[in-house]
Amino acid sequence: MLFCFGQEFVTFQNMKHLTLLVAFVVSAFATAQQTEYVDFKRLTADLRFNAETSSVYGNLAYEFKIQKPVDAIYIDAINMRFEEVLLNNTAVEWRNDGEKLWLLKAFKPQQTYRLTFTYQATPKKAMYFVGWQDEAPNQIWTQGQGKYTSNWLPSIDDVNDKIEFDLTVLSHKENQAIANGKLLQKTTVNDSMAKWHYDMKQPMSSYLVALVIGKYQKKTEFSKSGIPLEMYYYPKDSNNVEPTYRYTKQMFDFMEEDIGVAYPWQNYKQIPVHDFLYAGMENTSATIFSDAFVVDSTAFNDRNYVNVNAHELAHQWFGDLVTAKSGEHHWLQEGFATYYALLAEKAVFGKQHYYWQLYQYYHELVAQDRDGLATSLLNPKSSSLTFYKRGCWVLHALREKIGDKAFRTAVTQYLQKHKFKNVETQDFISEAENVSGQNLSDFVALWIEGERFPEAEAKTLLMQSAFIQEYEMVDCEAVTSKCEYYLNSGVSDQAKAKIVRQQPHLVTSETFKNGLKVRQAIAESLSKIPQALKQDYQSLLDDMSYKTKEAALYHLWVNFPEDRATFFNKTRTAFGDATKNVRLLWLVLALSTPDFEPDNDVMYYNELVNYTAPVYNYELRISAFQYLEALNACHSTCKANLTQAMTHHNWRMVKFAKALNERLNK
Ligand SMILES: [Zn+2]
Repeated sequence: MLFCFGQEFVTFQNMKHLTLLVAFVVSAFATAQQTEYVDFKRLTADLRFNAETSSVYGNLAYEFKIQKPVDAIYIDAINMRFEEVLLNNTAVEWRNDGEKLWLLKAFKPQQTYRLTFTYQATPKKAMYFVGWQDEAPNQIWTQGQGKYTSNWLPSIDDVNDKIEFDLTVLSHKENQAIANGKLLQKTTVNDSMAKWHYDMKQPMSSYLVALVIGKYQKKTEFSKSGIPLEMYYYPKDSNNVEPTYRYTKQMFDFMEEDIGVAYPWQNYKQIPVHDFLYAGMENTSATIFSDAFVVDSTAFNDRNYVNVNAHELAHQWFGDLVTAKSGEHHWLQEGFATYYALLAEKAVFGKQHYYWQLYQYYHELVAQDRDGLATSLLNPKSSSLTFYKRGCWVLHALREKIGDKAFRTAVTQYLQKHKFKNVETQDFISEAENVSGQNLSDFVALWIEGERFPEAEAKTLLMQSAFIQEYEMVDCEAVTSKCEYYLNSGVSDQAKAKIVRQQPHLVTSETFKNGLKVRQAIAESLSKIPQALKQDYQSLLDDMSYKTKEAALYHLWVNFPEDRATFFNKTRTAFGDATKNVRLLWLVLALSTPDFEPDNDVMYYNELVNYTAPVYNYELRISAFQYLEALNACHSTCKANLTQAMTHHNWRMVKFAKALNERLNK
């Protein structure tokens, strides 16, 4: 069904006139934000889609309360058309300037209004129709943060107006439609269509509204507190559900316990989508993440979803329940999410892992400062590294300073006091000061306000870990007699891997008896393989890591040309992680080995080219394009896929494709 729109669509001609009018209206908000005048309470939206034209249509009902007298209010709405705009069921004067829907009326304070209208939009961003023009899975999904929900749903971009969003979605029956909140019911509309009715109980900022439509199955577990944990997956991925979502329940239970505030929403859903813009997004009760994190048990050891899973979960409190008032306080979202993700990982992987990650963050932050890029944590233009990892470090340092008990009480009280509202840095610091009885102004000046990352103070905190002390001590940049001893001693795997990378020639048959990470270091750094270690080296091809298999296959192929067929046969069915890293290398090496199955060369070449198609995730496509470029073999199909890639919705794919296209045209 399609419905028509009348004359209210803004044309270029009447735009000038409107701009004048709107400029006048905007002056009412010159010194204050709209939230002072009006509080939007609730949105009920009935939505449907046309995937052919990438359009969304909706019937909306907004409830809002006026706080102070005002002559005009607006709803953010980018390039939309409106009809049947009614206020309390009566016609109202309204304007559409292409960015906002304005309601012009002398609004009286303390009154509650109900606004209803229909709209249509063909969003350029924030809502993505993926796979409808190619072989990729057909999906519709959204990304509000950084893109603005007002591109697809008339809403309030200001994070300080929290609204209860209740979405109803029409789609084909065989799809799943997933949105924020609880699915009250799925009703059948006709033979092919159904409606999903979602209900939120609490308000949130508009950037957290989410919608996913696609073909999914789900596995549901329940947290200790009884919250349903819904884990969505593509029907073909049923064998990957366990490794992909490993530790979900454990981390959820940990998070509720450690934060000391019950999970604030009705359920928790996680949904993978194709070629997502980021690793994950913490939409309230409905985290969306990249399907490149859907892994098997082997790929789990190379790159898994655990940290992203924990990070987005932590945001359900830090970001969704309490939301930073403005960019200056962004670290209250990202620093807390990074820190609590690390705490959840500590509960799963142990204290060494926790310190290992802090140690990595420390080095990244120190390097950023050395590059002259130091900024205060309160600078809204700071890098992600600063917001995420320095923010995390601030919380680690604060916990060390005021103690475990005071820290946890402060976090709990901070969340309780400001739940469903907006916060700034001082709100948290005040709680920490109240609970601990300490004056934290020096701490704040050093760790939060100061431009430089407190390197020396952080180093002292790191050195409280015997594991980090040992790692620092074990150093073979210059070989000493101790290096061989270390390699066969009881030092940590990380320390042994460090020596292997620094001095690969020290590797002996004994070294292969170590764990996955040490063996991976051998595969990646021992490029000249002594005959005596050939058997041991070959055993790397059986490791539970595709990174190890990939590096080992390459080095064996180079070192022992006479045995290439053996190596190929041993790795013929190992496809690799989400980027099919082992398979791509296998194909390229097979094509570069003239006496290996020459009759299959065309088939292998076609398979390699096929991996540049849109059905595959963009990281895999980039790898395949890179190999074809290196082989000087990007011909017609490869070039057609490259042209498609240049108009992809993901900027990383576009950037790569444009650069490659330029190189090929030279
Ligand atoms: Zn985050």
